[in-house]
Amino acid sequence: MASYQISSKVNRAETDVLVVYCSDHRFQAGLYEFLNLALNLNENYDLLVLPGGPQCLTLMEYLPKFSWAGWKWFRFLVEKHELKRLILIAHQDCGWYKELPFHLHASSEPRHRQEVDLHRVKQALAKDFPELHVELYYAGWDANDRVTVEAISA
Ligand SMILES: [Zn+2]
Repeated sequence: MASYQISSKVNRAETDVLVVYCSDHRFQAGLYEFLNLALNLNENYDLLVLPGGPQCLTLMEYLPKFSWAGWKWFRFLVEKHELKRLILIAHQDCGWYKELPFHLHASSEPRHRQEVDLHRVKQALAKDFPELHVELYYAGWDANDRVTVEAISA
């Protein structure tokens, strides 16, 4: 059986941060850089990566079982690790959003739908996790294909 010796050491520090974003391979390197260099998280955060990212926390009417699973994982991490800071990232050209029925949103414009969802999650969390500080971001790319990340304000 192959064995790999990695130079990284296990991280023994506690974290109080959870990041939720989409599986899309196009953004992984850019988001890694954003989290570790721009936000200075130093590779010290829990991560929930799944298609559509934070959208899994809004699916109650459309896909209740997915929503249940999303909240179950989310609640597990926040409670077990006593997390204080939540970073939710949506992204440009998200394939998951192309599959969603339009009646779930008032707008057909993808970015608007994603921003509405980010705010919906933030609002839902304010009730159950009032101590959690929630940050919303939108990732995309510029004319040179460099990944861009914008903070979404309330
Ligand atoms: Zn996506």
